[in-house]
Amino acid sequence: MTEKSWDEQRFRDIEYNLKTIHEEIARAAEDSGRTEADIDFMAVTKTVEERFINHAIDCGITLIGENRVQELLRKKPNLHLKGVRKNLIGHLQTNKVAQIVGEVDMIESVDSLKVAREIGKQSVKKGLVTDVLIEVNIGREESKTGFMPEETPERIAEMAEIEGVHICGLMTIPPICDRTAELCKYFENIYNMYVDIGAKKIDNVSMNILSMGMSGDYAEAIRTGSNHIRVGSKIFGPRIY
Ligand SMILES: *Cc1c(COP(=O)(O)O)cnc(C)c1O
Repeated sequence: MTEKSWDEQRFRDIEYNLKTIHEEIARAAEDSGRTEADIDFMAVTKTVEERFINHAIDCGITLIGENRVQELLRKKPNLHLKGVRKNLIGHLQTNKVAQIVGEVDMIESVDSLKVAREIGKQSVKKGLVTDVLIEVNIGREESKTGFMPEETPERIAEMAEIEGVHICGLMTIPPICDRTAELCKYFENIYNMYVDIGAKKIDNVSMNILSMGMSGDYAEAIRTGSNHIRVGSKIFGPRIY
């Protein structure tokens, strides 16, 4: 295949994949007493070239997510971002915070008090309030970042005090599970935590977003209460690193 026809095939694949995903989101939302409009659908664009991201945007994507600060800042000028929100979803190092504050709509991956404080500091400096999600290591895995479930409520109460930061909800990546029932248990655990923390009505904390569900599990995530899914490879195809 020529490069041009390969691109065109990929454009068509993206269109087809988005259509399939939309249908599945709608079904899962209905199964949980909601509609597709209640689910925020993020296209995860890490490693994807700008022309394919722009195609997804042309197909109606209004929220994109990138993992790395450098990659996000490099691609940003080439993207058709009018009306499109962009969130950071990967681990953020403290020394990169100054570069990213003000460049994204939300940081979904706040995984330490230290990084939360730095986001606050840099936001105040720029006269901003940065919306964030708190990442929870729901499976208590050593390989993953995020707060341990048992410490999360207390840490959120502490982070709520930080000027320049507004906590909007929780984010998680569950462990890889062989059985759907096991996976759903993790989803249910964090959903319950999300509801419980919301019920505390902590000042400066609005538990409105539960970010969970990726290519392999977004339907289950929606059925167990997610309202914000992050889908990459199911839209753009496998990532080649
Ligand atoms: C890469 C990534 C995703 C998307 O993963 P897919 O399995 O390709 O859908 C979602 N969330 C985070 C935090 C990621 O790093």
